[in-house]
Amino acid sequence: MKFNKDVLKKLISKIPHTHEGEIGCDDCFEDLHTFAEMELEGKSPEKAMPLIREHLDNCGECRQEYQALLDAMKVLN
Ligand SMILES: [Zn+2]
Repeated sequence: MKFNKDVLKKLISKIPHTHEGEIGCDDCFEDLHTFAEMELEGKSPEKAMPLIREHLDNCGECRQEYQALLDAMKVLN
């Protein structure tokens, strides 16, 4: 198979969350509640978990999930 730009674009479009150093939605979701807890306690979670922060910036779905989680935790507190 010859690699040209079109082939690469097709491959990349199928794997939106696999840039090097980035985490996937599953990994993000696993640590999301910890991230939210730190946020609510004012502990700068973006410093402790920069990859989660980065994923939330890039992924609308997880950002919504995170917002919902934050709201739920605020109500519980
Ligand atoms: Zn995600």
